Amino acid sequence: MAIDLGGFDGLVVSPGVPINRHPIAARAREAGVPLIGDIELFAQARAALPPHRVVGITGTNGKSTTTALVHHICETAGLPALMGGNIGVPILSRDPLQPNPKGSGVYVLELSSYQIDLTTSLDCDVAVLLNITPDHLDRYLDFADYAASKARLFQLQSKASVAVIATEDDPSRAIAAHVNHRLVRVASTEITDQSRWPSLQGPHNAQNAAAAIAVARALNIADAVIEAALETYPGLPHRMERVAERDGVLFVNDSKATNPTSTAPALAAYPAVHWILGGQAKTDELDACAPWFGHVRAAYTIGEAGTLFQKLLGPHMKVEDCEMLCEAVKRAAAAAAPGETVLLSPACASFDQFRDYEARGDAFRAAVGALK
Ligand code: ADP
Repeated sequence: MAIDLGGFDGLVVSPGVPINRHPIAARAREAGVPLIGDIELFAQARAALPPHRVVGITGTNGKSTTTALVHHICETAGLPALMGGNIGVPILSRDPLQPNPKGSGVYVLELSSYQIDLTTSLDCDVAVLLNITPDHLDRYLDFADYAASKARLFQLQSKASVAVIATEDDPSRAIAAHVNHRLVRVASTEITDQSRWPSLQGPHNAQNAAAAIAVARALNIADAVIEAALETYPGLPHRMERVAERDGVLFVNDSKATNPTSTAPALAAYPAVHWILGGQAKTDELDACAPWFGHVRAAYTIGEAGTLFQKLLGPHMKVEDCEMLCEAVKRAAAAAAPGETVLLSPACASFDQFRDYEARGDAFRAAVGALK
């Protein structure tokens, strides 16, 4: 039965619906009915809510980390803050921030490009772009179309708002060149104190931290508070998460890294690694990790990809096929010397042996806890 879209003010769709090819989306466009999502409903409700600021964070990589970090800085500063969007509980399922006599609070929203596509009136007080690299190209005509989706976040902003843009790739630099309100550029090379931030190691986290610092300054948070918050930021589970330190050996759970590109930053972050990897391979190469093979003391493979990784890594390093995660943890822990790191960063999906990457990370934590 075809629904008549004639009288609709808007069609609310989940960001999971591919609006470039779903028939209902085509019909809505024909009928002149805007396609919107939960973030747009939030934007429209804002006028009726107490006046709090909105920070919107997008980028191909680092969104969750930067969102959680900005939220942590706001809380450290004593500001009422609510985190939502593409992270945790949907923003419309949360109670809105209450009026605050001491000043306005902050909504910190992680925004995927799909959510931006479904937004027509979100004016972020501070909008953040971390980076743009090829991803999700199945949902866009091409790379330029994907970049245009990110650019919209800034086009929706009013003149009084602030844009924070990391200028480390060409598409992001192009967007920065066209922003016509207050722009804060971020170069992560300005970061000097990173060694003091336990949960923000690696060059990619320098970019995330630089962006969060720029946001916090735009919110008038004092530098001393920002510095304290960077030192106490606890990190997100399963993303380079420090789970234990035993006899000088650090154990790190990076189970969220399900492809070689997301494993590379973890290998880059630690100089002497016992690397546990494997599962269901998404590609038949590890090219993105190759620049950091020199950091690896030995590799321990698990799951289906064991044979493939033996072949790929064998010429470069010592490789042991362990099949099971708990066996890999035992062998890596026995081999690691003080100052070295046992790292689970699988570069693979988990589904051959686990329900999801979270179950895999939990199993790693349990195996480390069970070590004699
Ligand atoms: P997202 O929410 O955008 O997926 P996360 O903060 O959850 O990003 O990080 C996911 C993975 O992406 C991390 O494990 C890391 O490997 C990589 N990553 C994080 N931040 C960056 C960054 N700024 N640049 C490149 N890669 C990053």
